[in-house]
This record gives sequence, structure tokens and C-alpha cells, in this order.
Amino acid sequence: MNILILGSGGREHALAWAVKQNPKCDRLIVAPGNAGIAQLAETASLDILDGTAVVAFCEENAVDFVIVGPEAPLAAGVADATRAAGILTFGPSAAAARLEASKAFTKEICDACGAPTAGYARFTEAAAARAHVQAQGAPIVIKADGLAAGKGVIVAMTVAEALAAVDDMFGGEFGAAGAEVVIEEFMAGEEASFFILSDGVNALPIGTAQDHKRVGDGDTGPNTGGMGAYSPAPVLTPDLQQQTMEQIVLPTIREMARRGTPYQGVLYAGLMIEDGRARLVEYNCRFGDPETQVLMMRLGAQALDLLLACAEGRLAEARVNWADDHALTVVMAADGYPGAYIKGTAIRGLDRLPEDSRHMAFHAGTAERDGQIVANGGRVLNITARGDTLAEARNRAYAMIDHLDWPEGFCRSDIGWRAL
Ligand code: ATP
Repeated sequence: MNILILGSGGREHALAWAVKQNPKCDRLIVAPGNAGIAQLAETASLDILDGTAVVAFCEENAVDFVIVGPEAPLAAGVADATRAAGILTFGPSAAAARLEASKAFTKEICDACGAPTAGYARFTEAAAARAHVQAQGAPIVIKADGLAAGKGVIVAMTVAEALAAVDDMFGGEFGAAGAEVVIEEFMAGEEASFFILSDGVNALPIGTAQDHKRVGDGDTGPNTGGMGAYSPAPVLTPDLQQQTMEQIVLPTIREMARRGTPYQGVLYAGLMIEDGRARLVEYNCRFGDPETQVLMMRLGAQALDLLLACAEGRLAEARVNWADDHALTVVMAADGYPGAYIKGTAIRGLDRLPEDSRHMAFHAGTAERDGQIVANGGRVLNITARGDTLAEARNRAYAMIDHLDWPEGFCRSDIGWRAL
């Protein structure tokens, strides 16, 4: 079959790498893709937020299956457009993607189905929000309702910080995404990510992971899009996974179906775990980046069968063929990230890295210039390895990094520390 993946990051490189290994995949196109993806698939320039353009592209290229990587095309209704055109699609409708696109909507769903999450209140004007912060005290969490690329959440440790966040959001810092503000109870605990496929009715867990949000070793410095991840996350024990399925995921899927907006795609549940109990922090309606890199490393070729079963409504009969393995990815970023960084610096040594079922250098922000791979973004490479133990996977990943010659890049040296 001919498959189109939408997106251009390390997540899409990992999806392409796994899909390509499956013999069902005849032709693979990734739009827009990146320099690493171009080594294993065709790439195409295409406005992936424009549903009409995506449908036209699929028709011209006889695409049988579309996999939507990032949230923006989902929120823009691209999966609705391709499905309406009769093209098999992996990814939720815009109505179902509200689980990520609106934090207030997610809270409403949690209320309706009884899923445990932080207590909250919603505001559309600053004075009432400020009064609520004063009454509740700190720590407290202030969130812009809409999509803000991970920057619309302030975990305020003091009332002053919380009030400043309220003022910034209503002052227009996040544009329309901040027109409504959700103020949440602060939850203590350890965070983990749980990935579940849903075909609208059935749900199939496909793995757990833990991310590293802060830029510096020991979880210091500013927040980033993620500096590394590993899978499985031991904190999400089988008991906690079962509890999460019964109390959070399945009730959500039933509530979405009841409302006439069934959820079809991957549901990424961000969980807070404390005292043997999981509460929902957030839902994302797409795969995580860099968590996908470790999930795909573990799933390999079967990932395509699972995504197809999800899109075709056959998850009830689908099974994950688990290996007792571990995967870990280290993000290499351009100096200065998550602040200002320069593009265009040369990355040498990639051709010296092994690329097999245990080692992969997934590309995020890269480009090719005169036959040379150069940095073209903040997060640039995801050096990923698999092993029988997490320590083995970590050692393999860092050994790969030792072969790279990129003086203008950096990475954290402690990915996996919580589980190791
Ligand atoms: P991202 O896209 O980076 O995952 P987001 O903008 O979708 O983030 P959330 O995941 O809701 O926002 O929040 C970002 C982070 O803020 C969480 O990963 C968590 O560390 C922290 N956080 C959010 N809500 C709470 C809460 N109620 N209590 C404690 N920490 C929280």
C-alpha cells in the first residue's frame, strides 16, 4: 500500500522507520519530512494544515493510508477532510482532537466520566481569575485553554507568580489560546506518559514512557519540548496501567463516543502518579516527541499493523507482540536551545553510526546542504537505542553520541536517571 505520513520531526522519522520495515508498505511519502527521513522515504512539500491540498495530494499519488503526526493538522480538521474523501486515516477528527486543543474541554470530559484529575475552575476575565488565585493560594497551575506549543502552562509556586501568569494570559500573550484560562489545583508526584490506540470503541495500550522536559542535567533549567525519553516507564506498573484504563481512558473513550465524536487515533495520557494512584494531567491527541522514538524502536514493523487496525476499527482483535526490552533516546539540540540558537552548523559522523533494530539516529531539525547534514532547528537529532536493560540501551545511545562531531550541539548526560 501507498502511505503518506504528515510531519517533519523526529516523531515522523521514527514512524517512517517503523512503517517502512513492514512488507505491507510499498511506497512511503513523508510531507514535508526532513533530511533524515529523505534517506528512507520520498519527501514532498505540501501545506499539511490544508485539508483540501492533502486530499488532492493523496488522489494524485494514489495514497491508501494517511498517518497524521502533529496536532496542528488534526486541530485544523485534516483527518476529517481525508476521511470524507474516503482515504483511510490514522488520527482523530477535529472534534475529537479537542481533547488536546482545549484544556477546558478535557476537564469537562473528565467531569462527565468521573476520570480523576486536578480540581479546576475556568475563567474568561482577569478579575475573577485573580480573585480565585488569591482565595486558593499557591502552588497553583495557570493554563491558557488552547494550543500554545507547550508554553501555555505556568506551574506557579507563589501567588505573585500566578497573578502575573493570569495577567499575561488575559493580556494576550497566547492570543486566542488564552481567551479562556483554566486554573488547576497543583498535583504533586511523578509524571509518566501512557499511549493507547482507540478505534472509537476499543482501546489498546501500546506502551509507556517518561520524558525529560528540562534542558539541563538533574532536571534543571528552562522547559523544552523534551530532551530525552525512555520506555517502558517502570513507575507505570501493570496495576497502575489497568487502573488508568478503567478509571480514565475507557470512560473517556465511551464519553467521546456518547457525544457523537468518537476518538480514533492515539490517545497520549499524561499522568501524575502519587501514592499508588494515577491522575490525568492532560491528553494529547497524537504521538509524543521524543516518546514516539522509543515506542517505535520497541514496536518496529508491527507499528503499521497496529495503526491500520486502529484506522479500520479492528482493535478488538489486535495484539501487541511485546519483547522484554527497553529503549532510550537522547535529544541533541543546537547550543542556546530552548532560547535563541543558530541554524546551519555542520553535523559530522552520522555516517559512522550503526543503524539497525538496536540503534537509530532519528532526525528532528536537520537539512541537507551540499551533501552535508546541517542543523535546521532547536532539537536536531534523537539518538535512540534498544537493549535488554535500560542501562544497556542508555550505554548504546551515549556510545553513538561519542562518534558524532558537532561542536555546536549539546545533550543531557543523564537521560534515564529516574529509572536507573
Ligand atoms: P506539553 O505540550 O508540554 O505536554 P501542555 O501545554 O499541553 O504541555 P500540560 O501538559 O497540561 O500542558 O502541562 C505541562 C506541564 O505542566 C505538565 O507536564 C506538568 O509537568 C505541569 N502540570 C500541568 N498541570 C499540572 C498540575 N495540575 N499539577 C502539577 N503540575 C502540572
